[in-house]
Amino acid sequence: MAERAEHAGAILNIDLSAIQCNYRILQRLAGKARCAGVLKANAYGLGANEVATALSAVGCTHFFVAHLDEGLALRPHVPESTRIFVLHGPPVDTEMEFVRHRLTPVLNSLPQVVGWQRTAHTLNRRLPAILQVDTGMSRLGLSKSEVQTLLLEPDPLRGIDLQYLMSHLACAEQTGHPMNQAQLAAFTALRKGLPPCPASFANSSGIFLGPDYHFDLVRPGAALYGISPSIDSANNPMQPVVRLQGRIIQTRYLGTGDRVGYSLTYQASGPCCIATIAVGYADGWLRAFSNRGAVLIGGTRAPIVGNVSMDTVTVDATEADPALLHPGMLVDLIAPDQPVDVVAAQAGTIGYEILTGLGNRYRRQYVGVPMQVNATRTYQPACEPTN
Ligand SMILES: *Cc1c(COP(=O)(O)O)cnc(C)c1O
Repeated sequence: MAERAEHAGAILNIDLSAIQCNYRILQRLAGKARCAGVLKANAYGLGANEVATALSAVGCTHFFVAHLDEGLALRPHVPESTRIFVLHGPPVDTEMEFVRHRLTPVLNSLPQVVGWQRTAHTLNRRLPAILQVDTGMSRLGLSKSEVQTLLLEPDPLRGIDLQYLMSHLACAEQTGHPMNQAQLAAFTALRKGLPPCPASFANSSGIFLGPDYHFDLVRPGAALYGISPSIDSANNPMQPVVRLQGRIIQTRYLGTGDRVGYSLTYQASGPCCIATIAVGYADGWLRAFSNRGAVLIGGTRAPIVGNVSMDTVTVDATEADPALLHPGMLVDLIAPDQPVDVVAAQAGTIGYEILTGLGNRYRRQYVGVPMQVNATRTYQPACEPTN
């Protein structure tokens, strides 16, 4: 990361108080269900430790990561009593590391269940875990027939202190999709066959499907980070979290017919001003943005022209205020007026991929309240959905 802001080719501003607001919005929607925070992939690229500290300060006590190593890295940054759940479950023969660092696995397969039971037997005590069942996404979790196999055992959950039965929705951002109800029905049916325990079903979008989907614990990730929970991103109720600003390093004037960038894929149709910005595909500004989308210069759209390079992107800044076009000035790539979902769509992808792909050459600046882990004070931002 660039040590000094003025050295940086781009500045990634992350608003921790907006993440806290989004947490409160989701917790309020989830009603009686507890609201966890999903911090996998370095909190979707935004910094797991910083986000965990911000969320802990507003009362979040349950975090999810994907990998064991993410859990180990997070452990020292959250209060002792905070629960850390590892979505992938234990890699083979790592169970004791979970126990030692108080990480709770999500058990996704019969071998993972058996491994956890063996560890419990060795330690002669019951060990906490989430059990994931597959309700139609065919990705992780015990299938219906594996659940039946498990239930043939005389004591199927021997040694396991079952914290939650869990499943994951495949199409939750499409509110009317019939798969949502089908998965809910499958989950409810599987739940009836198992000993009573709390349940967890909804990701960000699932929370917006209504109370039937909330159960006891909801697991939002994307919405905390300002990504729209619905495919209709024009009505995003979440607060924007990320502002990405790239620096102008050079400007030049082109005449009719002049061409721009690798493979000369853009040709000027008249006199224009090209600005070169110090952000490229090595920074996660995808090559798919070549000749697509725009940056904002003082609020004015400057379309991306030519192919995106490794370290730079070129924009047509003809319409922008010339006073804003000096080398060193910053333009907006992601901003409240150009949200990450809109940007992502221009490259044919989703906001999740843009955020998790953000590079590590940026200067990262956290705005919002500075906070300490174990803070007893609870920060109370005024937060309402932005719509
Ligand atoms: C990533 C993930 C989540 C969070 O999903 P969002 O759509 O980002 O809210 C929740 N549950 C599971 C199992 C996940 O893998």
